Amino acid sequence: MSKSFDVVVIGAGPGGYVAAIRCAQLGLNTVCIDDWKDAQGKSSLGGTCLNVGCIPSKALLESSENFERVTHDFATHGIQADNASMDVLKMVARKNKIVSDFTLGIRQLFKKNKVDSLHGRAQLLGRDGDVWRVGITDGEEVRAKHIIVATGSTSRILQQAPLDGLQVVDNEGALSFSETPKRLAIIGAGVIGLELGSVWRRLGAEVTLLEAAHVFLPAADEQVAKEALRAFTKQKLIIHLGAQIDGVTQAAEVVKINWRDIHGVTQELVADKLIVAVGRVPNTQGLGAEAVGLKLDAAGRIEVDEQCRTSLSHVYAVGDVVRGPMLAHKASDEGVMVAELIGGQMGHCDLNLVPNVMYTAPEIAWVGKTEQQLKAAGAAYKTGQFPFLANGRARALGDTAGFIKIMADVNTDRILGVHIVGPMASELIQQAVLAMAFSASSEDLGRVIHAHPSLAEVMHEAALAVDKRAIHI
Ligand code: FAD
Ligand code: NAD
Repeated sequence: MSKSFDVVVIGAGPGGYVAAIRCAQLGLNTVCIDDWKDAQGKSSLGGTCLNVGCIPSKALLESSENFERVTHDFATHGIQADNASMDVLKMVARKNKIVSDFTLGIRQLFKKNKVDSLHGRAQLLGRDGDVWRVGITDGEEVRAKHIIVATGSTSRILQQAPLDGLQVVDNEGALSFSETPKRLAIIGAGVIGLELGSVWRRLGAEVTLLEAAHVFLPAADEQVAKEALRAFTKQKLIIHLGAQIDGVTQAAEVVKINWRDIHGVTQELVADKLIVAVGRVPNTQGLGAEAVGLKLDAAGRIEVDEQCRTSLSHVYAVGDVVRGPMLAHKASDEGVMVAELIGGQMGHCDLNLVPNVMYTAPEIAWVGKTEQQLKAAGAAYKTGQFPFLANGRARALGDTAGFIKIMADVNTDRILGVHIVGPMASELIQQAVLAMAFSASSEDLGRVIHAHPSLAEVMHEAALAVDKRAIHI
């Protein structure tokens, strides 16, 4: 006999596991079905984010940044740390431990909140009256009135560069190299390419990124992208824009990438490893979408309205498998919204206020509109900008590259967009998100007391600069 629940959540990534916990908190009898297996073949909760995404990449970014500090920055502090070396296997083991602690943590959270957890691939089978039937790979079947699909995404495959998991890898393989490759090629200079490229460059690899777009980081504010490109080039990340990949061949432990540059001239890049990071595709394979009439959009994502309702009654979808940015916090926020809707509460997720962060050095973060978007919309806006170079805390940290830029409406002064390139942008951006969530004006931000000395003072001064009254410049 199949077991019945109030809610079946499919997928235990940050969209699914958060939705399941919130459902349980609201008194809904909930099961979460997930098919992720770790390298040892054991089920592992947390989806892409915890297993091969946000968390492991940030662990490696931290280790590699520490190594770079020791080898490049410590001497200016008077610290002698000659002959520092990197034990890559130890770094990867530390990363693996962080991942397993967190994935285990979700299991404990499920237990604490009384969320049932099942391992296997789930498929929508159909509806009996107002109850959905969901099949699981081992033949088991569960039933529920409400379904939340949170099946996430997987790496987009590039036909010219098939993965072999050893020399040609996606983000998963790139998080577990056993040694630093001498020459590392990366197809795609997006967020994964730049973050993982930074990791291995700091550890000594010569990193070349081949990017199809003619513009660097087109989604970022142009001024920020320009500053970041300058910084990355200075760090000797080699970035070719307008690159077209013709083919990849593997021979005698090297990978050869044949490509055409921005002028159409044929080039060959030889590397020891190749990372393919050309975006991600929604995970709907085997879900039974077609059979039950679940509508997908042209990009293969599950079609949803602003409250994540799909074309089917009582079936919701959240996270990477639907429209909007493919980010963990966006997935979680949608998960909470849907759980609260099912629980009879108000649900809300504002896609205009999703912060974007890149954990490179300098970090990049933004929320709201870019200057090019405001120009295209013909908006009347004013701008305030302040450099980290003029900030005492940034000087003390020895991390002075970059700036914060705030744009506000000319008439109402309401903040329209905040863009950061510089130290701790990932933490600083939250102040802007909070301000914008409460419809703050730049004057509101400028009238708030900021601790001294702190990086947050750069935000304060940028807000003051909107009305041309920054103090320290
Ligand atoms: P996922 O995390 O992909 O989880 C989906 C789960 O569903 C998986 O476990 C999958 O196996 C399972 N599943 C799929 N189909 C089925 C099925 N039919 N039955 C059962 N289970 C199924 N985002 C950030 O916000 N910050 C970052 O710093 C960041 N860094 C990243 C770094 C890398 C290298 C990568 C690859 C991604 C990163 N992301 C980051 C993106 C982030 O990981 C995703 O946006 C997030 O994981 C999406 O969550 P989700 O719950 O929608 O899906
Ligand atoms: P991305 O969209 O950020 O970058 C992919 C890049 O590959 C783009 O610049 C694109 O122009 C380029 N590209 C596409 N086809 C190409 C081709 N044939 N040849 C050369 N270049 C090509 O995607 P990603 O870096 O793969 O990351 C996937 C998703 O994961 C992102 O959407 C992002 O939201 C998420 N992510 C987030 C973080 C973070 O929040 N810090 C970190 C990593 C990943």
